[in-house]
Amino acid sequence: MEKNKGFKLLDIEDIKLFINGEWVSSSSNSYFTLKNPSTGETVTKVPRGGRKEAIEAIEAASEAFQNWAKLTAYERADYLLKLRDLMLENEDELATIMSIEMGKAYTEACGEVKYAASFLTWYAEEGRRIYGETIPASVSNKRLFVVKQPVGVIAAITPWNFPLAMMTRKLGPALAAGCTGIVKPASQSPLSALAFAKLVEMAGIPKGVVNIVAGATQEISDEIFENPSVKKISFTGSTEVGKTLVEKSAPLLKKLALELGGHAPFIVFEDADLEKASEGALASKFRNAGQTCVCANRIYVHENVKDKFLKILVEKVKQLKIGNSLDETIQIGPLVNEEGVRKVEEHVLDAVEKGATVLQGGRRFGDQGCFYEPTVLADVTKEMKIMTEETFGPVAPIIAFNNEDEVIKEANDTIYGLAAYLYTSDISRAVRVSESLNFGVIGLNDGVPGAAQAPFGGMNQSGYGREGGHQGIRDYLEEKYISLGI
Ligand code: NAP
Repeated sequence: MEKNKGFKLLDIEDIKLFINGEWVSSSSNSYFTLKNPSTGETVTKVPRGGRKEAIEAIEAASEAFQNWAKLTAYERADYLLKLRDLMLENEDELATIMSIEMGKAYTEACGEVKYAASFLTWYAEEGRRIYGETIPASVSNKRLFVVKQPVGVIAAITPWNFPLAMMTRKLGPALAAGCTGIVKPASQSPLSALAFAKLVEMAGIPKGVVNIVAGATQEISDEIFENPSVKKISFTGSTEVGKTLVEKSAPLLKKLALELGGHAPFIVFEDADLEKASEGALASKFRNAGQTCVCANRIYVHENVKDKFLKILVEKVKQLKIGNSLDETIQIGPLVNEEGVRKVEEHVLDAVEKGATVLQGGRRFGDQGCFYEPTVLADVTKEMKIMTEETFGPVAPIIAFNNEDEVIKEANDTIYGLAAYLYTSDISRAVRVSESLNFGVIGLNDGVPGAAQAPFGGMNQSGYGREGGHQGIRDYLEEKYISLGI
């Protein structure tokens, strides 16, 4: 608990929600408790916001929209860049908070702060490039224009695995476009969002432009979907919840973007640089202890290079140090909670019962906290749960294959379509296979493809909409056609 004291951004003993520029408690006077997954210790209690807080936040955002939308893109960019600078100046504290609440390894958390800040830089710039159109009219007494305007109040519902980056990937384009909004952070990571709100305040962003309401998930979400003032919702989370939100968005036809789960294939061809492929697999699989939507879930390795690849990979996995997420020398922190550990245990047990071989790890680590050893499984087959469900843990399942067509078919045999990876040194194969994989993001000889300036999103049951890139701001804009008679 000592480490939790002395934060500049948050008073850890008295956490409050952020609505209309004020720090407020919950009207129901109830709280929920946060536990540090490294130690099991209580970190703090957080006010449980509900419908009342959601209504207040949406009203504040509606009021703030009137002026925020009227600012020039240049003025809004100045605010975003100030916020970006504050994030970078407070990297240590933001990373520490994130690490304590959801268990991300501290050095990786520092990386997330920079990644999250990069969305503010990118969209501050993109906001200045929201161009309209003129269209040639078919009669001489008309002029036709298309102008782009902010949609209005938006809501962002974010997951715990990237508490800051998933928020700025939505708020960056929304604020740049002239929208205002409410954020409902995951119950396992509200502190990162509230620390960010402190920076919003320090940046002088007007009251009500950004509001953070954590708490009663169902109540807050119901208000977001039922309140006509909210024009667009961007959700990042599980496919299961995403599907329920599609139904909830129907009565008022709310615009909805869904960034959902994945089950990424990672293909190593016989002509691949095995050293680079194993580095890529390590980064893709074990980042955030395997708790990312783009994690390599199925690692297909050509039969001719399988043994060599496995030897290199297992050696690298053995070097990964596991421990308290705040320890700057570790690479693998805890999983987010006990439920996360149980799911990993279930997948490994199921695989072993069906014939998989544990080459490394394969069990819990330590006697406190939610740790699981980085694990490599060989002889994995299609019948195992790990081949279809998101494991969300540090387990690398290896499957041998013999030919290109067969592996493409296997890779595409999933309900998801978020990210896929391939390693090859054959340029024709690189193009051919990249084009054949039904996934929204392809890592071609690259284990970490995410970047603020590139569009990120899924196909099939991984959702719809794109975040990042110039594409990421479109959903926050309405295109209005003006026909001018002269
Ligand atoms: P989750 O359970 O779906 O929760 C995500 C967010 O939705 C949280 O804020 C959660 O609040 C809220 N939520 C839960 N049930 C809800 C409901 N019925 N109505 C409205 N909101 C609801 O997912 P998670 O476990 O936090 O995150 C892991 C999942 O996110 C994985 O499937 C992962 O692949 C996916 N993900 C996707 C991307 C992407 O860009 N495609 C990025 C990161 C993660 P509470 O925390 O209060 O329950």
